[in-house]
Amino acid sequence: MLPPLYDAHNHFHDDWLVPHQPAIDDAVRAAGLRRAVVNGACPADWPVIAALARCYDWVLPSYGVHPWDCGNRPPDWFALLQARLAADPRAAVGEIGLDRWMLDSARPDDPRLAGLRRASLPEQGEVMLKQLALAATENRPVAIHCLQAFGALEGILRHVNVPPRGFLLHAYSGPPEMVPAFADLGAYFSFNAAFTGEHHAARREAFKRVPLDRLLAETDAPAMPVPLPLDRHPLPPSPTGERVNHPGNITLAYSGLAEVRAMPLGELASLVEENFIRFFLT
Ligand SMILES: [Zn+2]
Repeated sequence: MLPPLYDAHNHFHDDWLVPHQPAIDDAVRAAGLRRAVVNGACPADWPVIAALARCYDWVLPSYGVHPWDCGNRPPDWFALLQARLAADPRAAVGEIGLDRWMLDSARPDDPRLAGLRRASLPEQGEVMLKQLALAATENRPVAIHCLQAFGALEGILRHVNVPPRGFLLHAYSGPPEMVPAFADLGAYFSFNAAFTGEHHAARREAFKRVPLDRLLAETDAPAMPVPLPLDRHPLPPSPTGERVNHPGNITLAYSGLAEVRAMPLGELASLVEENFIRFFLT
């Protein structure tokens, strides 16, 4: 019998999952999920997530402005965030972060970025810093998204206060060599189920270097679809034809991470449970 499972980062509220929510609830309960951190990316998400948290006992709400949504944030976003956190002492902050991929590598017509003003890295940094400072003051768990901006992120984290409990680098895709520096700064690292894909050897290498007491697991569902042959919860494609990841694939994140760390699955699951409770629930 495995200990209960914990998804450190997903987007259960996302439009792509809404039609499937009751079936997903059944599936994740059957898989043994105890808690999932559901991350808002913009203020419009936040009341939706608060409502889900009232409906599903496994939903742990997290409120933040994502770097993709940073360019479209309303003027009163920060006051709204403060109010959200004040209303729920167990809520986390996130997802926040820095994303150079959106600026340098994303296709101009990427449907996931449709309608979004792509904020510059300095603007993203300013919005991230305000949220990080709030998380630090209140010692809330905070989830950081970073794509192709790990040098900049490390520079920032060295010079600001972070929450005494630490912070989460979700789906860490930075260089394996930077893991110890981030760990020293207080980072937890969540292994995404998609990292089981053949082309993700560098991600797996990075997770070999993560201290055992900083390991977590996540799906980022509906984003980051898992390798097709390993997808035990296929969902219909999104309206724009993209594959949709199911939160039930958290089991694959656990088995993939157990393999990377050459640990029995039960031992890994106990470790992740301890880490999750320490970081998110105490
Ligand atoms: Zn995410």
